[in-house]
Amino acid sequence: MTLIQMQCRGCHGKLVWHPDFGSIETCVYCFRLWGEEANLSREDNRVECYTPETFAMALDILEVTHRTTIESAITLALKAIEIASMLGVEELEMRAQLIHAEVMLRKGLLAEGGRILQKINGWALSHHPYILARSHRHLSTFFELLGDMPRTLEHALISIDHLPEDVLPRTRANHLMQLAFALANNGEIEKAKKCDQEILDIAAGINDIKLALKVLNNMAYTQYSLGDAEGATEFVERFRSLAKKYDVRLDPYFLDTIARVELLRGDYEGAERTLQVVIDRRLDDLLSEVTFLPVCFITAAQAQRLQGAYDRSQATLDAALRLCGEYGLTGIQVEIMQEKAELYAASGWYREAYEEFRSFHTESEKLRSKEREARAKVLQAVFETKEAKRAAEYYRNMALRDPLTNLYNRRYMDERVDELIRLSTASGEPFSLILLDLDHFKRINDTLSHEIGDTVLIHVAKILEAAAKEPKAAVRLGGEEFLVVLPDYDSKQALQFAEVLCHEIRSADWRPITGKLPVTASIGVSTFSEGLSRSRLLTLADNNLYQAKRAGRNRVAG
Ligand code: GH3
Ligand code: MG
Ligand code: MG
Repeated sequence: MTLIQMQCRGCHGKLVWHPDFGSIETCVYCFRLWGEEANLSREDNRVECYTPETFAMALDILEVTHRTTIESAITLALKAIEIASMLGVEELEMRAQLIHAEVMLRKGLLAEGGRILQKINGWALSHHPYILARSHRHLSTFFELLGDMPRTLEHALISIDHLPEDVLPRTRANHLMQLAFALANNGEIEKAKKCDQEILDIAAGINDIKLALKVLNNMAYTQYSLGDAEGATEFVERFRSLAKKYDVRLDPYFLDTIARVELLRGDYEGAERTLQVVIDRRLDDLLSEVTFLPVCFITAAQAQRLQGAYDRSQATLDAALRLCGEYGLTGIQVEIMQEKAELYAASGWYREAYEEFRSFHTESEKLRSKEREARAKVLQAVFETKEAKRAAEYYRNMALRDPLTNLYNRRYMDERVDELIRLSTASGEPFSLILLDLDHFKRINDTLSHEIGDTVLIHVAKILEAAAKEPKAAVRLGGEEFLVVLPDYDSKQALQFAEVLCHEIRSADWRPITGKLPVTASIGVSTFSEGLSRSRLLTLADNNLYQAKRAGRNRVAG
């Protein structure tokens, strides 16, 4: 098995390229784009054999490179599995199989792909955090394809939590991209925007134009879906000028966003013009996924209808229907019928519009029940075993846990406190929160080490966990800040609880861990009273914590 190594002209790092992998697209180190496109000559290349290390680097690239056709993706995935098993390294085999599973999902083989993901996920649980993170990343896609958005988000969150800190920036961006998508689809727009911004920063840092274009396109689409024409236009302008500067042809995903934003601004002619190359099928060589074509056609048909060009609109929709027939895309067919009904209504053909609406409704009902059935079947196939069910529960739980201490995390706290506010408002039962921050923790990190700091956090977590048995809950909010949720505790009981906890932390035997340095905590208490919001309740606890710090630390204030 041969490996050709070339020098990246950007950073002079090694490019890893394999003849079976087609043209290299990205440098392993700086992720600049090279290869056949960039006329990189092969004459001065050295040829050597794959080692587990070089193959791992090739996998790094493969994992985050979006292949243009399903066929090339399958070929590469199978080749990767072959090389991995030849090298006989289990970890590499799992990574190669994950790549294959993802391609299966993209090909529509959900049950098969899902089963592989489940299996690898189970293996990685006790073996390998990176592969665990990757498998959750793909499980997120799996649920996305099944249309289960809450679980899409759940797995995307876990995939970020378990991603080791030293992964390549491009890999982190790949995980963040899925998370941003999942957040946006679960209505968490602000958080999605933060993710997008981080991806954009990564893209700038590693000079990855394709990535920057992709995320700017997503950002434009988010603003578009919020109805913000101005904001959307700004992002469109950014990716357009970037594409122009680097001479990148924009594929239909981008053109559809541009056209939609133009529609939003009332520029119907502009929108039609933008999509003309897609309608004329002049971009077919570039098509990443043919399934996206009809979406562009519908946008174009809307642009034509809104200009009053009903004939052109009709022709575009007919072409879209033909495409659906050609490629067996039933899902989008319903949307085409809907647009047709709109068109008939606009042209004053009310009877036709009515007929089209009716058949659209029957079709969409049929489709929905077919989808429901298919979804149930896939879920059964992938999660039918008892072990798999237990694993699914375990993952759900993990999304709500802090990886270092295994305490609950902020996400859990948000949900739990909101729930308690609802319950308390209805029943009048009290509940309290205690907010705990370790004293002079920075000193422990600085004088001992970060690892010892981590050990202290883990031990404090153990003390908290033992003190906060169900229905109480101990949460790590972040850093050296913790919170305990105390259902049914009034302010007096909460203060008592806090005093005991403060004492337990102070008097634990820290000598084997920190030597002479003491470990103490300051605690602020707050108790719910009607009308208080979650953030107000936390602010109250935080103010009290501040008082405890000011009064000399190692104490409780409430
Ligand atoms: P104060 O008594 O006022 O709370 O002082 P402090 O030193 O505890 O507070 P400060 O907020 O200045 O420092 C908190 C430190 O916690 C800084 C940061 O490096 C450290 N830290 C945050 N997260 C972690 C972590 O996961 N592990 C370790 N070891 N340290 C962490
Ligand atoms: Mg702090
Ligand atoms: Mg502190």
